[in-house]
Amino acid sequence: MIDQKKIALRHIKELLEEAEKNTEFAKRYVHLARNISKRTKTPIPSGLKRRFCKKCSTFFIIGENCRVRTTNGKVSYTCLECKNVQRFPYIKEQKQKRASLARAYSAKSEHKQIKQ
Ligand SMILES: [Zn+2]
Repeated sequence: MIDQKKIALRHIKELLEEAEKNTEFAKRYVHLARNISKRTKTPIPSGLKRRFCKKCSTFFIIGENCRVRTTNGKVSYTCLECKNVQRFPYIKEQKQKRASLARAYSAKSEHKQIKQ
């Protein structure tokens, strides 16, 4: 099962690499990669996830068929083919927030234990 996912992940990466090189068939490659991901329940790595349009499977070439903007702590990718906008939060800051929340939570529970 784990091996299957490893193979699937490799295929996904290869297909997306091909999509990057071969703009003519990029949509097809992205489509195939996403199919593998769905079928095998293998998540597409976060770095690659933002390289294509979720709606029309266009492989993004920044400055050509997609527009990248930062707004309200998010990076937005606008597909210029179907005008679909995908927003991704800044992962680093998200992680920091999560870590500080976890710290606050553990501090709270420690406090409870002391009370009891
Ligand atoms: Zn699109």
